[in-house]
Amino acid sequence: MNAGHRRALDSKEREIAIGLAQLAAIVESSDDAIISKDLKGIVTSWNRGAERIFGYSKEEMIGRPIAILASPGGQDEMSRILEKIARGELIDHFETTRRTKDGRDIHISLTISPIRDSEGLIIGASNISRDITERITAEKERLHQAELFARSNADLQYFVYAASHDLREPLRTIVVYSQLLERQLGSHLDADSSASLTAIAAAAGRMTQLIEGLLEYSTAGELSPSSVEDVDTQLALAAAVANLHSAIHDSKAVITHDFLPSVPGNQLHFVQLFQNFISNALKYRGKNAPSIHLSAKRQRGEWEFSIRDNGQGISPEYHAQIFDLFKRLHGQDHPGSGIGLATCKKIIDQYGGRIWVESQPGKGSTFFFTVPAKS
Ligand code: ADP
Repeated sequence: MNAGHRRALDSKEREIAIGLAQLAAIVESSDDAIISKDLKGIVTSWNRGAERIFGYSKEEMIGRPIAILASPGGQDEMSRILEKIARGELIDHFETTRRTKDGRDIHISLTISPIRDSEGLIIGASNISRDITERITAEKERLHQAELFARSNADLQYFVYAASHDLREPLRTIVVYSQLLERQLGSHLDADSSASLTAIAAAAGRMTQLIEGLLEYSTAGELSPSSVEDVDTQLALAAAVANLHSAIHDSKAVITHDFLPSVPGNQLHFVQLFQNFISNALKYRGKNAPSIHLSAKRQRGEWEFSIRDNGQGISPEYHAQIFDLFKRLHGQDHPGSGIGLATCKKIIDQYGGRIWVESQPGKGSTFFFTVPAKS
């Protein structure tokens, strides 16, 4: 072997050594647990991520069976995984549980691939575990909240249904008798009495409107897991705009939007949300023609939607109250029953999201809501 050839080999070996050292540093600094084991399930390497997630040190685990990490009843699953690996199969993002040194059962996402020797024979497996306990706990909490919501909503619906039935009866009597009075008295009615009868009819009409609003509120936002679909919120916005066509046209409003995503949910809910926000922006407009802009940004596991208008704005002391049932600020000047935003809140509660407003009088308002993104 001449000297030149020898030098070339040395530099190649150095390159490999540097590469291996870099790889080792990456493995060591990973937040995930990176473990290797032989085909009997005996641990052959254990990084710092594994120490942090499972609580065992390298010294405690190397040379010992990986089955130490099995959750109660999980031994069979571990044996099946080893059999798969021996057959050369890959395990990709398999979600399961493991028990830590201090006895906690944690949720992990597991990716395992076979390790082969220079002849291609499988001699073990490399195992990457990601701790997903936080995500699973949040999902469980969301399901629990949805169950509680469904139960209290069923109670509310029953109550509103029964109450509205009972309220409509006397209301009908008021309407019928005031019409009868008007007909019986006819030309004998003086201006004051006529105005009183008109006020009675208007109040009865308003009461009917409130009862209908309440019924709508009580049934809003139901989201059973079986009714969840992929909602194109851009299409939902188009439907809301079509429903409000004449009000938008009459007010010369301009509605613009950025990219709006698809999210899991129910199409009608998003139509209802956008319709409520837009019709409010038209109703509580400022001096200029309404200008409304919608956008959405992704933040970790959720989408944050915003609907900005150039309307009258809302004083900060009312920012929380306007989402309460029947709460109105501009009641005298505009028709409405104070149910729209409460309905929006009810829908968003059901999705496990948040809803709020940022606004100053005279400076327009921006309504925000969040909903979970596709996982
Ligand atoms: P309604 O419009 O029937 O009164 P909502 O629940 O939709 O009921 O709204 C509650 C109150 O919040 C409204 O009465 C109004 O005072 C205020 N509000 C809602 N949206 C806006 C907006 N875009 N700009 C200014 N005020 C608003």
